[in-house]
Formats: sequence, C-alpha cells, structure tokens
Amino acid sequence: MIDFEIPEDDSALLDSIDRMMAKEFPPEAYREADKNYQTPWHLLPLMGDLGMLGLPFPAKYGGMEKDWRSVALVNERLAYHAGIASSLFATTVSFGGMSLMTYANESQREDLLPRLIQGNARFALALTESQAGTDAAALITRAQKISEGWLINGRKIWISNAQASDYLVVACRTTPHSRGSEGISLFLVPRQTPGIQMTPLEKLGHHCMPSWDIGFQDVVVSENSLLGEEGRGFKHVLSTLQFSRAGQAANSVGQAQRATDLACQYAKERTQFGRPIGNFQAIQHKLANMQVRVNQARLCLYQLAWLIATQRPCRLEAAQAKLVASEAFQFVTKEGMQIMASAGYAMESDMQRLWRDAGLFTFGEGTSEIQRNLIAREMGL
Ligand SMILES: Cc1cc2nc3c(=O)[nH]c(=O)nc-3n(C[C@H](O)[C@H](O)[C@H](O)COP(=O)(O)OP(=O)(O)OC[C@H]3O[C@@H](n4cnc5c(N)ncnc54)[C@H](O)[C@@H]3O)c2cc1C
Repeated sequence: MIDFEIPEDDSALLDSIDRMMAKEFPPEAYREADKNYQTPWHLLPLMGDLGMLGLPFPAKYGGMEKDWRSVALVNERLAYHAGIASSLFATTVSFGGMSLMTYANESQREDLLPRLIQGNARFALALTESQAGTDAAALITRAQKISEGWLINGRKIWISNAQASDYLVVACRTTPHSRGSEGISLFLVPRQTPGIQMTPLEKLGHHCMPSWDIGFQDVVVSENSLLGEEGRGFKHVLSTLQFSRAGQAANSVGQAQRATDLACQYAKERTQFGRPIGNFQAIQHKLANMQVRVNQARLCLYQLAWLIATQRPCRLEAAQAKLVASEAFQFVTKEGMQIMASAGYAMESDMQRLWRDAGLFTFGEGTSEIQRNLIAREMGL
C-alpha cells in the first residue's frame, strides 16, 4: 500500500519552503506582483539553494536523487503559498529537467542540468499554434536542414514566460509533407537568437506568468540544438506528460487547499444575523464539499506520484489526477467566491485571483475533455 508518512528530510524541506515563501514572497507581495504583471523570478535561485530543483535528478548533475513523491509534496506546498511559485518549479523540474533527462543527449544534460538545478536556466515550451491547440500535432512551424544547422520559420501562440526564458523548446515539422505526430522534432532555441519576435497576450488570470505570441522568421540554430531524435519530437513530448500532469495536479491541489482555507477562515469571522456565517448549514455544507474535493484530488496526486516513483504504468492515473485536481480547483474557487461574496469579488482579495487562475487548469496542458478521452481509452473504449 501507499505510505502517507512524510519522511523527515521532506518534512524539513516543506518547513524551509514555508520560511522562504513567508520571507521572499508573502501574500502581499503576490497581490502586488499580480496587479503589476510581474514574475517572481527571484524565487528560482532560492529554490535552487534549497535543493528543490534537483530533487529527482542524479547526483552527478547536482541532483538529490529523491523520487516523485518528494517532488509532488514540494510542488503542492509551493502552490499553497503561491500558484506562480509552483508554476516556476514545475516548468523547471517537470518540464525542463525531465525533458533533458528523458530525451536530451549527454552533452546537453551536462551543460544544462547543473544550471537548471541551481535555478539559473529558464525554459519555456513552444508547442501550441493558432490552428494546433488540443490537436497539437497539427502544427506547421517548420525547421529545415541547412549547412549551418536548422532554419526555423513559423508562429507559436500562448507561450508562457517565453520572453524571460533562456531557452525555448520549440516543436517544428522537420519532415516536409508529413502529417500528424510524424515528422516533428524539438529544438532547444536560445531566446536571444535573431529572428524571434514576441508579442504579449492579454488574459484573464495568471498575471505573474506572461503569455506570448512568438514569430520565428528565418531563425538559424546550430545542429546540436536538436533535442532528442529527429522526427520523434511529438513522441518525446508524450513521454514526459505524466510529469507535467503531476505538476498541474500538485499546483491545483495546493491552490485549492488555499482557497478552501481562506473561505473557511472567512466563514468563521464574518457575521450576519448576529452569528458567523459558518454557523449556517448552507455554508458548512459548501465548505465540507470543498474539503472533500481537495482531499480526493490530493489522493489522486499522491497515487500518481507513487506510481511514477515506483516506475509503474500511470497513463490513466496521470490523466485522472490532472482532471480531478483541476476540476476541484475550479469548484472550490467558485464556491469560495460565493461564500465570500463581495469580499471575494474585491480586487484586493486573494479569492478572486485564485478563481481567475483556476480557469486555466481545466484546459492548459490537455483539456478535461481530452483527459476523459484518455481515461476511456485506457478502459478499452
Ligand atoms: C494562459 C495560458 C498559458 C499557456 N501556456 C502554454 C505554453 O507555455 N506552451 C504551449 O505550447 N501552450 C500553452 N498554452 C496553450 C494551451 O495548452 C492550449 O490552450 C490548450 O492545449 C487548448 O488548446 P486551445 O485553447 O486551442 O483549445 P481547442 O483545442 O480549440 O479546444 C476547444 C474545446 O474543444 C474541445 N476539444 C478539442 N478536441 C476535442 C476532442 N478530440 N474531443 C473532445 N473535445 C475536444 C476542447 O476540450 C475544448 O473544450 C497556454 C494557454 C493559456 C491560455
């Protein structure tokens, strides 16, 4: 059976996260950053100092050689303090680091993993295009082999943190006239490469994680910027989905618990008709349902973390954890807004930010419909 005891060293790390977040990015700093569309990049090297960014990686690159249970716990705790901290952590570890571990070559790993583990290498995934969202394999950005390496032309949309990243992992079609997931390759493109143009996109939530439309016009990259095998890029992305889904689930669980705690606290303090609103059964039942949904999501997350840690198949459970957690996050923030009413609707309230940010999780990195499709497929349907 799965053991729920938190090992002593993980427990100490979680305490360090509490201290780091209270000092370096307390709730008032998060409110200001959200208002001013600023990303707390200063957290990344601090996470590096605490060893968090190296958790699942081999010691020879500076990693801690811990397993995915520790990663999930850390990610959830970061999210409880600030969703953006969890996003920065997950993009670095679950996407950047695990991509390097899974399909990069040894010289790319030796070059990039130690920097990533210290919090000094920022990555962004550039997959989505205007005509290729859920059907990501419909991408048409192309990379052509030339004498200097590769020539990239095309356009990507909705790429998180692209402008501030050091490297864009860009999915391109390298086999002309290929269709679907065949003939796609990944490239590690330094952000400053000439020919890259970025335009910011306005959006409802996630103000601390800017989104960019990226144009690639005759962008030349070297031969060794190919990440993984030529033509197998889409399969490479699929091979690391369990890590990014675990990251999304942990972020949702942490933030959903935060929203539930905020609403519960408010229900204890706010009085109407001469008593705390938490005395009304209508409010109690909402809060009970919220906590149950968060707990269900947490169990799905921990099950997934255990399956990854013990190297068992987990396609269904990865989709399930992402689905259950993201929908729980949306559910509890909607209920939280109702419980807090005008106090939640005010821009200085953390609840409205949580509610706005929750919107992304049921479609980013695979929509709820696609998670259900995947689960049904795993059930043999
Ligand atoms: C804030 C933000 C950050 C993002 N960050 C990144 C990033 O860093 N990198 C990146 O590459 N992308 C990023 N994305 C893109 C994101 O991954 C896509 O928005 C997502 O994959 C969904 O694509 P879409 O929005 O085009 O929706 P569509 O694919 O147009 O889907 C619309 C609706 O149709 C449904 N649908 C589609 N196909 C099916 C089907 N086969 N069965 C059932 N229903 C279906 C969907 O579930 C959805 O409900 C980001 C998006 C946002 C908004």
